[in-house]
Amino acid sequence: MTVRAKKHLGQHFLIDKNIAKDIVDSLKATNLDRVLEIGPGMGVLTNYLLENKEYETYVIEIDHESVGYLHTHFPQLKDRIIEGDFLQLNIAEKISEKPFALIGNLPYNISSQIFFKVLENRVLIPEIVCMLQKEVAQRISSGPGSRVYGILSVFLQAWYNIEYLFSVPEYVFDPPPKVQSAVIRLTANGRTELGCNEKLFFQVVKQAFNQRRKMLRNSIRSFSPRIEELDAVLLTRRPEQLSVAEFIDLTNSIEELLKTQVI
Ligand code: SAM
Repeated sequence: MTVRAKKHLGQHFLIDKNIAKDIVDSLKATNLDRVLEIGPGMGVLTNYLLENKEYETYVIEIDHESVGYLHTHFPQLKDRIIEGDFLQLNIAEKISEKPFALIGNLPYNISSQIFFKVLENRVLIPEIVCMLQKEVAQRISSGPGSRVYGILSVFLQAWYNIEYLFSVPEYVFDPPPKVQSAVIRLTANGRTELGCNEKLFFQVVKQAFNQRRKMLRNSIRSFSPRIEELDAVLLTRRPEQLSVAEFIDLTNSIEELLKTQVI
C-alpha cells in the first residue's frame, strides 16, 4: 500500500533511490547528534537517514496518511515521528535545545516560509540540506550582481554559506512536478552578530527589493527625509548590486540618520 499523492500538500514522491541517497550523503552533520527531516512522505530519505548511526533521526509530517505509512514501515522511529506542521513546530521543545541538522524534500509551496522559520531558529540549525524548486534554489544560492538575487538570498546568506549541489529532473518524481528541482546545502557561516540593528536590516532589505529596479535613493527614501546625506554613489545603486556586508553598512548609516534626526 502506498500513500495517495495530495496536491495541496505539495506531495511529489521521489522515486529514484540513488538521488535519495545522494541527498542524504550531502548532509555532513559534523558534531551533530540529531537530524530532523521535514515531510518524509513514504520515507525515501528516511530510509537512508536511519542507516547512519552517528545521529538520531526525527521526522515531522503533516499528512496523516503518510504518518500511518511511516509507523508501519519504520517502527523503529516510534515517537520520533511527529505528526504536524513544521511551520507551527516548537523546535526547542519537540526536537532539541541543542543544534541539529535539517533535511527534506520540501513541499515547494511553503519553501520560503520554511526558510523564514529556519532564520528564526538559526542558532539551533547550523546545517540544512534540502531539495526545492530549482528557481528558488538558484535565487537563494546566487550572490550580488545576479538577476535572481533577492530578499531571501540576503537574509539567508547573512547567516549561512549556501552551495547549489545538483539539479533534479521532473521525471524522478511521482507525480512529476511542473518545475525542475535542485538540492542545496546551507552551512552556518559562524556569524553570531549581524553588526547592525537586525530589525532595521530586515526592513531595509525588504524595502529595497520591493522596488528592485529602482536606485536606493528612491526605494529607501521613506526611512528618512535626510537620505541624501548618505554616500552619493551608494544611493545610485540597485539592491541586487549590494552584498550582505553592504546592506549591513547601509543599515548602520540609516540608523545613524534616524538617531540624529531633528524632530
Ligand atoms: N520526502 C518525500 C519524498 O521525497 O518522496 C516527500 C516529499 S514531498 C515533496 C513533501 C512532503 O512534505 C509531503 O510528504 C507533505 O505531506 C509534507 N508536508 C507538506 N507540508 C508540510 C508541513 N507544513 N509540515 C510538515 N510536512 C509537510
